[in-house]
Amino acid sequence: MVSFVVPCFNEAANIAPLLAALDRVWATARQENPGLRGCEIVLVDDGSTDATWALIADAATRRPDTVAIRLSRNFGHQPALLAGLMAATGDAVISLDADLQDDIAVIPRMLAAHLRGDEIVFGVREDRSADTAFKRITAQGYYRLLAALGVDVLHNHADFRLMGRKSIEALRQHGEANLYLRGLIRSFGFRSSVVSYARLPRCRGESGYTLRRMLLLALDGITSFSVRPLRWIFYLGLVISVLAFGYILYAVFMALTGATVSGWASLVVSIYLIGGIQIMGIGILGEYLGRTYMETKRRPPFLIDEVQRHAKPGP
Ligand code: UDP
Ligand code: MG
Repeated sequence: MVSFVVPCFNEAANIAPLLAALDRVWATARQENPGLRGCEIVLVDDGSTDATWALIADAATRRPDTVAIRLSRNFGHQPALLAGLMAATGDAVISLDADLQDDIAVIPRMLAAHLRGDEIVFGVREDRSADTAFKRITAQGYYRLLAALGVDVLHNHADFRLMGRKSIEALRQHGEANLYLRGLIRSFGFRSSVVSYARLPRCRGESGYTLRRMLLLALDGITSFSVRPLRWIFYLGLVISVLAFGYILYAVFMALTGATVSGWASLVVSIYLIGGIQIMGIGILGEYLGRTYMETKRRPPFLIDEVQRHAKPGP
């Protein structure tokens, strides 16, 4: 069986087009791959404030293939997606956005790759011209930064992917609180392949990803896969300490030879420089410490309030 997992946050306007599009793509997929059996659609309402829950709960009562899960509040895209992945029962689980920005027409190709033996199939955005220039530029810079930090990232892969049972179970074993699924799943190392597509404009509604959320996700991506920033601070501190030591020798020498130095400028500059570097270092330490703190609490990344399924006809 194939599961589709869709996190939904204030996507009321997109639910009907989404279900219609999934029905179409499933029909095509079955034509192309007659080996496919049933399918299931797992819709996760991530604490929406619009009619999203009413719509997906209604879809779940009407359609036998649809399950609606309501989280107790807004947990964010990654936890909502994880909730859906954990609830999915398919042998192949495909995650996608509710706004149909990822071209689901490539799903038959993903399934074909999976049937050929690929455990994970990553969707990669070949053409991002539908995204804003700001999003494109920041994303590009971020991928570069991650690569410099030694994180193995797949450029332009978001969370549109197919995962097999093995990788879903691997994910279940991880239990991380700071989620960066695209990085985590990549690190599993199962046999995988890539299908590329053009990123489409949002079907309807507005993006739920504010700048703040993008920044938080970006930080999770860095801190959950790399400790290099900590090491960089150590090296920086080392270099500065050596320089400062040399400067002390120089100052002592100058004092002994009687040359008076009116060192106001160098004093102020060094105080600011060292102060700045220290604060930066403490800030980076704080990022890791805070995340370690959150992980040690072992809080569940999401809480389910309600699950709606098709009412099976009685015996
Ligand atoms: N989403 C979510 N919880 C949130 C924000 C977003 O479940 O707090 C869902 C949203 O409904 C969509 C997907 O995550 O299905 C991607 O979000 P969005 O389209 O807003 O992000 P963008 O495409 O702009 O990066
Ligand atoms: Mg979107």
